[in-house]
Amino acid sequence: KQELLQQLKGKENVTKGGRHINLYANIGSVADMGYVLENDAGGIGLFRSEFLYIGRNELPDEEEQFQAYKQAVQNMAGKKVIIRTLDIGADKQADYLNIEKEENPALGYRAIRICLAQPEIFKTQLRALFRASAYGNLSIMYPMITSTEEVVQIQAIVQEVKEELKADGIPYNDVEEGVMIETPAAVMISDELAKMVDFFSIGTNDLTQYTLAIDRQNEKLDRFYNPHHKAILKMIQMVVDSAHQEGKWAGICGELGADPELTETFVRMGVDELSVAPSMILKLRKIIREME
Ligand code: PEP
Ligand code: MG
Repeated sequence: KQELLQQLKGKENVTKGGRHINLYANIGSVADMGYVLENDAGGIGLFRSEFLYIGRNELPDEEEQFQAYKQAVQNMAGKKVIIRTLDIGADKQADYLNIEKEENPALGYRAIRICLAQPEIFKTQLRALFRASAYGNLSIMYPMITSTEEVVQIQAIVQEVKEELKADGIPYNDVEEGVMIETPAAVMISDELAKMVDFFSIGTNDLTQYTLAIDRQNEKLDRFYNPHHKAILKMIQMVVDSAHQEGKWAGICGELGADPELTETFVRMGVDELSVAPSMILKLRKIIREME
């Protein structure tokens, strides 16, 4: 069976009816990139940037980040690389940030909230990302969005960063910028968000946690954690429709995107992209190619 999957390398992710789906890979470090190319992913749909921030004593500086992002886009040789900005807090902690202990960290000071409250951290990452954009096909996405105001603030900071780079004579490309849809609030205002960004990537791990009010880390609740819940599937449809209304694309980068039981459902819903563990790419390609 593995052999048959290997024969699908170099083939398109297209249904018999001619609908094309992008199959991208999720990775957590530059070291994972070998698996991405080996499994013939069309790009990287979620590059979790936390690896640069975790397991150390101080923030990574701009140069270190620039080198990592540059290497990532160069390795992918023109294929799309979507890098997610810092999503620290909750399950992912870094002591040097001195984040106070919280009663409900999943509902706490995390991700984009840290970046907007401590813009110097955010700006360093954005400078590194825009500098790396000159070396390949880089896109940026922002995690844990709940409001249009956050996107407005992000855009203002991005603008500042671009102006500073321009003033310094440092080259950068215009990049696609998207948001993760992983809170019920973002789903409900996806019509407005779609006017403000280039794409959506649905984070079903957090979206399930926040919609079903179930801590994704609590094993005792595993039997209640049901990402196949109708509420989640309806939300995905809503997000895809909002994106398409504005001519934007929508993908799924949470674990649910790799669920082979739902691949056909997602294609029929109009999902444009699935970003999954590299080892799942060829399996999903097979399902898509066998679809009527
Ligand atoms: C998600 O929440 O579905 C997601 C892709 O992000 P993470 O698992 O890193 O929170
Ligand atoms: Mg998430």
